[in-house]
Order: sequence, then C-alpha cells, then structure tokens
Amino acid sequence: MRLDVVTIFPEYLSPLDLSLIGKAREQCLIDLRVHDLRDFTHDRHRTVDDTPYGGGAGMVMRPEPWGEALDHLMVTGVPGALPHLLIPGPGGVPFTQAMAQELATEPWLAFACGRYEGIDERVIDHAETLMPVTVVSLGDYVLGGGEVAVLAMVEAIARLVPGVIGNADSMVEESHEDGLLEYPVFTKPPQWRGRGL
Ligand code: SAH
Repeated sequence: MRLDVVTIFPEYLSPLDLSLIGKAREQCLIDLRVHDLRDFTHDRHRTVDDTPYGGGAGMVMRPEPWGEALDHLMVTGVPGALPHLLIPGPGGVPFTQAMAQELATEPWLAFACGRYEGIDERVIDHAETLMPVTVVSLGDYVLGGGEVAVLAMVEAIARLVPGVIGNADSMVEESHEDGLLEYPVFTKPPQWRGRGL
C-alpha cells in the first residue's frame, strides 16, 4: 500500500518509523512517504499561509503550494492510479473502524495536513476534479493541525493491511470489528493482589 502525507511538520510523523508501522515499512508492506509542503513554495520565506479573504482571525493555507504538492504526488505516485485524498478536518465524516477497513483495501492513500484555520477551500474543490476526496474528522473537538489525525488514521488503517500484524487471529475478535467491544483481558499469574481465579 502506498501512503503519502503532506505536512509543514514532517518530523511530526516520525512515530510512523516505530513499532508495527515501522516494521511494515521495513518489510515494504507499506510505502509511506512524508512530504514537506514548504518544498512547493518559491519565496524566500517558504510561505504557506496568508490572511483570510472576508476577514476573520487566523491565517489560511495558500492554495498554490497545495496545488503543486498534489501535482507532484500525481506524477511520482502509482502509475495509472489515483490516490484517495483524505483531508483531516473537524467538519468531516467521522473516522470509524469500518472506514479504516475500507481504506485498508485501497492501493494508494494521500493525506493533506491542514494547519492554522485550514486549507483554502478551492484546493479541496480542485482536488475533487482529479481524484476521490474525503474530509475526515477524528472527533468533535479541534486539533491544532491534521498531523495527529493522520497518525491515528494511518495506525488504524495500516494494521489492517495483510501481513502487518503477524497473528491475524488477534484481529478477529477486536473491538469495533463487528460493532461490539472486546471483552476484558487477563494474563498470568492467576492470582494478583487478591484478584483472579
Ligand atoms: N478553523 C477550523 C479548524 C482548523 S484546525 C474550523 O473551525 O473548522 C486546523 C487543522 O487541524 C485542520 O485544518 C485539520 O487539518 C486539523 N483538525 C482539527 N480538528 C480536527 C479533527 N477533529 N479531526 C481531524 N482534523 C482536525
């Protein structure tokens, strides 16, 4: 599975070098690439934001670097394929295990991490003319940026990719797999601080 993440904080995604996902990347089960949005700017200050039209507080992510970043993904990605672009946003479709299962079957996902007040809406409208696009919310709260949402989504999706978890049986009875929650779990010793068998 190919995964591309575009962000102004590439280091924010470094936990994806660790644990299950890190191992899956080493084994080439997942081809995860992180791109710095500032590489698609052309001014001395590598500016990615500007003041909002119509006033209001905060800054908005400029469309030009995002347009170039998407162009770059299209030419360097999977030949003949289109990425499914996932844009984290508090107003999006709630992210669920069912969505993770669906996304885990797709060959190529791209993630656009917003910051500030978000990405200029025209980028989303433009992307929709090129590829499937879904705005996805992690929950009803506001994060500072899309990176934490992408970490959660990539972790939930990648562990469902065949081969990423060594023992596939461990996923069968997992919480949310069938709409139910997993039971409490116990290990040895059989008695601990007066609790147990
Ligand atoms: N002004 C926006 C919030 C921007 S927060 C609003 O009121 O809707 C900045 C960025 O954080 C967003 O572009 C998005 O990438 C991310 N973000 C914030 N909350 C999120 C959530 N609940 N789920 C997913 N991404 C979120």
